[in-house]
Amino acid sequence: MVRGRRADRIRPGEPQRRCVGCKLVRSQRELLRLSVREGEVAPGPGPGRGCYVCRDPECAKKAVQGRRIARALRGRAPEPALDRLLGWLA
Ligand SMILES: [Zn+2]
Repeated sequence: MVRGRRADRIRPGEPQRRCVGCKLVRSQRELLRLSVREGEVAPGPGPGRGCYVCRDPECAKKAVQGRRIARALRGRAPEPALDRLLGWLA
């Protein structure tokens, strides 16, 4: 992986979030937000704690296989099925 100087890549003023799959920091609008709704992971803005994943099936796979979404949401919801997550990315 080539590492650029981070200061060059980040545009000031844009919110940056970390993908739970690849762990890279990206601009928030490039990422899908996941939050907890009624005890389940759901896409989109929601109250309380959220996490982010790239709109990339590889990141979705890594996140689900590592149970990283449930962990990022502090166990407030079970890890979503990969199929569901892929559907939200589409
Ligand atoms: Zn990612």
